[in-house]
Amino acid sequence: MITETTTNSIGNPKSAIRNGMWHGIIAHYGQYLPVTEATPRITLHEGNTPLIHAPRLAAEIAPDIELYLKFDGANPTGSFKDRGMTMAVSKAAEDGAKVAICASTGNTSASAAAYCAVAGIRCVVLLPRNAIALGKLAQALVQGATVLAVEGNFDDALRIVVQLSQTHPIALLNSLNPYRLEGQKTGAFEVCDFLGHAPDFHAIPVGNAGNITAYWKGYKEYHAEGRIEALPKMIGFQAAGAAPLVMGHGIDKPETVATAIRIGHPARGEEALQARDESGGLIGMVSDAEILKAQKQAAALTGVFGEPACAAPLAGLAKLSQEGYFREAREQLGRKPVLVSVVTGHGLKDPNTAIQIGGEPIVVPAEAEAVLQAMGL
Ligand SMILES: *Cc1c(COP(=O)(O)O)cnc(C)c1O
Repeated sequence: MITETTTNSIGNPKSAIRNGMWHGIIAHYGQYLPVTEATPRITLHEGNTPLIHAPRLAAEIAPDIELYLKFDGANPTGSFKDRGMTMAVSKAAEDGAKVAICASTGNTSASAAAYCAVAGIRCVVLLPRNAIALGKLAQALVQGATVLAVEGNFDDALRIVVQLSQTHPIALLNSLNPYRLEGQKTGAFEVCDFLGHAPDFHAIPVGNAGNITAYWKGYKEYHAEGRIEALPKMIGFQAAGAAPLVMGHGIDKPETVATAIRIGHPARGEEALQARDESGGLIGMVSDAEILKAQKQAAALTGVFGEPACAAPLAGLAKLSQEGYFREAREQLGRKPVLVSVVTGHGLKDPNTAIQIGGEPIVVPAEAEAVLQAMGL
């Protein structure tokens, strides 16, 4: 059980940034993480991702909030999964693991492959066949993992890796591994350290429900330490074709364009509901059409290009704002509520979907006059 965090000299925030350079979440937040002097640091210097003010996007989709995007697509392998993976693989290395395994909708495998490459641990990833984004598949393959395309969905793949990790000396790198959540909670620390306080609302896409659980854990720990005075309300969004937590039952054949959250039986579902209820938030759902619209809007109005899953909470915010959901908070606070939405993965990971929503380039002859004409000037 990992209930206590261990203090260590390396986790002193004052010494973690050396010569102005960032050395990863274990170096920076080690005092809040279950690491000791004996834990090897398997890092790609993840974390310290930008928290970007997004007034132009807010004006378009939710004018009654102060919107910030936590761009976790800026992590080394392009998703928040790196925060958890540096912890999970460091602990696997400490335990002497030779082989590690995970099921993945794409980003977990890309991250696991990378951190196992650092550690020299053999990495095996199980992916649902034909259901992961091209960039993620490329990452796992190039980074040297053994990539198995399972003729089933993510939930099938997860069932298999859990079974194998229980019966063989193979480290499990899915978010059932508690070290993953320990690492991922540092996203909440960074948000609070940047703002100087907790946001009023925290919006996030929900798939296997590890990240919403981890963020809530992070906020609660900072609160218990007295580093923040109030806690945010947690607002999760699922895709309508893969919304077990909204429906109240598992979905056997989840479907959505947002492949990162195409999960019908979330492993951390109970904890996600707990985070929702303890914080007084909600978990809602949005359609694929709403997701794709919000993905393009967000990229065009902020410069932050997230993959489709990241647009689920943004599409959700637009609806909540229209319904007047934030009105009460605004009146109580006497200002616009601050809302942080996590852009969990980089848009470049899913070029096929991006090209579909981006539209076609305008072909012009190689002449200045033709370019002016195409510009409408
Ligand atoms: C994994 C992932 C999610 C879902 O996170 P969970 O912890 O499974 O809920 C959302 N977005 C992206 C980009 C992801 O890689």
